[in-house]
This record gives sequence, C-alpha cells and structure tokens, in this order.
Amino acid sequence: MDLHLENITLVYPDGADSLTAVDDVTLTVPAGTTTALLGPSGAGKSSLLAVAAGLTPPTRGQVRIGDDVVLTPTTTVPEATRVRLDRIGIVFQSPQLLASLTALEQLELHAHLRGRRPASLRERAMALLEAVDIADHGHKLPAQLSGGQRQRVAIARALIGEPRVLLVDEPTSALDHDRGTQVVELITGLARQTGAATLLVSHDASTLTSVDATVRMLDARIEEPVPIHARGAAHPPLTVKDET
Ligand code: ADP
Ligand code: MG
Repeated sequence: MDLHLENITLVYPDGADSLTAVDDVTLTVPAGTTTALLGPSGAGKSSLLAVAAGLTPPTRGQVRIGDDVVLTPTTTVPEATRVRLDRIGIVFQSPQLLASLTALEQLELHAHLRGRRPASLRERAMALLEAVDIADHGHKLPAQLSGGQRQRVAIARALIGEPRVLLVDEPTSALDHDRGTQVVELITGLARQTGAATLLVSHDASTLTSVDATVRMLDARIEEPVPIHARGAAHPPLTVKDET
C-alpha cells in the first residue's frame, strides 16, 4: 500500500511564539519503493517522520496508508499507537536496542508487543536476521555487536510485524561510507521484497545510490522536484544573432 502524506503541517509551541517545523508537505511513497528525504540539519526531516510514525499528531493535514486515513490532528495517542503497532516499522538514528536481550530476543519481544505470536515466530525472526546478514549473531547481546550490526538488528526488528510502511531516520550517520551505502542497499532491497513503502531520511546523498526517488527538504518545505531535462537548461540560449 502506498504512503501518502497530505498537506502536513507541524507547528511546535515555542514559548509565546511558535515554530513551524513542517510546512504544508505533500508526498507519496509507492509500496515497495524507497524515497530518500534529504536536507540540512533543522530542515524538518525528523519532524515529518515523527508525524508519519504517529509519534506527533500533525497540526494540519493527514497521513493515509492505501485508502485508509490513519493519522489526523484529532487522532488520539492510543489510536496512533495502534496504527504504529499494526502498520508501521521505525528505525531510529541510534538502534535503541535493549541491553539485556539478544538480537533474536529483540525481534521476538517486538512481535509480542504487536500482538503477533505465530508458532513460526522464531523461524520468521531467524529469517529476518538472515535477510539482514547477521544470522550468526542472533544469540549476541547489543554490546557484543558492532554499530553496523546493531543497526541491522534494528532494521530486522522494524520488519518483524510485516509493516506496510517503513520509516528510517539517518541510519548511516554512525557508519562509514561503504557500510552506510550497504545499509541503504539493504533497506531498499527489503522494501522491494516486503512491499513496504519506505521513507528514509539522510543528510548524506553519497550513500543513496540504490533508492528509487529523492526529495529535498529545506526550511520546513519540500523543494519542487526539478525535472531532469530542465537541469541543464537554467540559462536557455537567447536569440542567436546571425553572423553576417
Ligand atoms: P532535521 O531532522 O531535518 O534536522 P528536525 O525535524 O529535527 O530537523 O527539526 C526541525 C525544526 O524543529 C528545528 O528548528 C528544531 O529545532 C525544531 N524542533 C524539533 N523538535 C522539536 C520539539 N520537540 N519541540 C520544539 N521544536 C522542535
Ligand atoms: Mg533529524
């Protein structure tokens, strides 16, 4: 199912003042594809992701998954939590794993929180750890894993509930270029396999070779996409004078 962010505005109260972190953003992410959201620090990327995740209600606008309007300014916290558990997987900038659980247990706990307890849960968790290429590390605690491996556990955990939407915030910020590129490739591949509409925030365009689309955010707004054929034509030739 496609993810639709429709005219999303998010205003934070700021003392007597207010700060518009997201200003009338409309964006569609088709099922099974990955859209990268690029932009400088403070542009509003994480704020937009927080709205899409149901962590913060939009001030205006709505989030649609397929035909269902799932999040609006009047969505309650329990309603938003339900939407998140049922339909949305999230990978945060830092993996946010529980220190006392093994990689495999992190996935199983999440499935339980989501109310998914199929007999095949262990199998599915193992298959996901395999898909993110750390099947051999399932018995290890976070402290025994590298940063990249922890991020892979977090990605597998986000997918255990078979979400229709996958939201990823700066997954490569703690990784070097090659590992960062690999993690983005892993995410785009999993999006394709699982059909999840995936929105991936990054400030490092060089790791994004595998994404399907790129959108830039600046000062709370999405920049108008520039059609490729228009890029070289910023200065159209003026009337050429005849050299007679
Ligand atoms: P990005 O992820 O692109 O770096 P953010 O969404 O984190 O940007 O921030 C956008 C703007 O909103 C910034 O000016 C930031 O200071 C402000 N902001 C972010 N979170 C909050 C919050 N919880 N309360 C108030 N202002 C916030
Ligand atoms: Mg951010």
